[in-house]
Amino acid sequence: MSAHPLDVSSIETRLFIGGKFVESEKQFATVNPATEEVICQVHEATDEHVNQAVQAAKDAFHRSSPWRKMNASDRRDLLLKLADLIERDHKYLVELESLDNGKPTGLSSGGYGAAVDIALAIKCFRYYAGWADKLMGKQVPIDGDGETPFLNFTYHEPVGVVGCIIPWNFATLMATWKLGPALACGCTMVIKTSEKTPLTGLYLGKLIKEAGFPDGVVNFVSGFGPTAGKALAEHPDVNKIAFTGSTATGKIIQRIAADHVKRVTLELGGKSPLIITKNANLDQAVMAAHVGLFLNQGQCCIASSRIYVHEDVHDDFVKKAVEYAEKLKTGGQFDDGVTHGPQVDDIQFERVMGYIKTGKDEGATVATGGERHGDKGYFVKPTIFIDVEDHHTIAQEEIFGPVMSVLKFKSLDEVIDRANNSIYGLGAGIISRDIGECMYMAKHLQAGTVYVNCYDKFDAASAFGGFKQSGLGRELGEYALHNFTEVKTVTMPI
Ligand code: NAD
Repeated sequence: MSAHPLDVSSIETRLFIGGKFVESEKQFATVNPATEEVICQVHEATDEHVNQAVQAAKDAFHRSSPWRKMNASDRRDLLLKLADLIERDHKYLVELESLDNGKPTGLSSGGYGAAVDIALAIKCFRYYAGWADKLMGKQVPIDGDGETPFLNFTYHEPVGVVGCIIPWNFATLMATWKLGPALACGCTMVIKTSEKTPLTGLYLGKLIKEAGFPDGVVNFVSGFGPTAGKALAEHPDVNKIAFTGSTATGKIIQRIAADHVKRVTLELGGKSPLIITKNANLDQAVMAAHVGLFLNQGQCCIASSRIYVHEDVHDDFVKKAVEYAEKLKTGGQFDDGVTHGPQVDDIQFERVMGYIKTGKDEGATVATGGERHGDKGYFVKPTIFIDVEDHHTIAQEEIFGPVMSVLKFKSLDEVIDRANNSIYGLGAGIISRDIGECMYMAKHLQAGTVYVNCYDKFDAASAFGGFKQSGLGRELGEYALHNFTEVKTVTMPI
């Protein structure tokens, strides 16, 4: 396995609060998932650090602060500057993302047919820079009092201090999806990164400072969910919580938000169906199923983890899908040509292996994979289960690993009902050359994003979020701006 190219002693590990990097007496290890070796010790946020970070964000939001006095066009220029700095340091961020998470650098640099991670982060900051000076209220023609006309208009004001809690699967990108729109709207932020991948957030902090954002506008705290995450969500001076993570934690966050009537958006888990009809181009179907499921070792919220294949093409699909899975090259994130890395840590590795055992125990058949790869690192072989039935645990629960479940279907209406019979509704996919059946299914599938003849196409302008227990609200696109603004109505006789 290739040694990693980063100089560990230069990696920033302190907390980023009020524009300064500060130390904590407590630290925790972050581990390279490909080697199981500790990369470095990271400073851990206590409740007191969270309080300091929220106070810094609150001060930065005060009406007399440099941030609040800034022109919208100046916020635009800061976001553009930040995008330029990320582009300048693109290689370093790609390597840091891959080192901490384990994903191959081919992916973190935006490859494999799904422009994600650092490449998409740059686009995202540029996209929201464009919005910063185009956020406008409306003049509304309300009735006068008979004698006097009334002027009525709305301001779209920033919601205030935003507490962000993010996961580890796309650490840079999940921070960016919140930073871009929130900063464009003029909010200030405290971001708690995942304890599994704290490093890229701290580097973003460094670039945010270099770009010239006023102190306290963005703060990064590293730490654990039940301590730092809980303290941030519960803090009375946090006006809005933007959360991405599991549905289980999302429910905890929503309860906390309810107690304070905080604004809250939730981007949660999924069990997304991909439907391959008898009219599909099977090579296209295999590509979509592989990108949809194996991208990032199956650690994607929108992973196409239920593949419904029409019975007429089922056996041909399985043959091709197995051949393709067996061609994926498993290895360390910095090894040449690697397309499949390790799971993020021992907990996720054990969780995925547990689901594989359950799949076998409940009667599904392993067509390929089904075991660990090598004896070091958290590698799970790309796995395809066939003979999967709807009631099987692996067809119902989010595995968040490289485990594809293939299910057979006979008719479109039957498969739509089966696909919709899930607590989740994040994504869905359709592969078919019949535009009529594509449009019929796209209309009736219960999902925030429906991919037709593709999968995992992300764009800063394209709204993303879930139906049902996959979330609340939308990230990206114009829709995300609503998450970070309050509408204020002003009425006066004129
Ligand atoms: P998680 O819920 O375990 O953790 C997410 C974040 O919440 C972490 O920062 C964690 O420290 C924090 N947290 C945990 N317990 C907390 C608590 N009690 N109070 C406050 N914060 C707490 O999820 P994860 O394992 O990091 O991420 C994987 C999950 O994220 C999957 O379910 C995946 O589908 C989901 N996800 C969703 C999207 C989306 O856009 N819908 C994107 C990426 C990941």
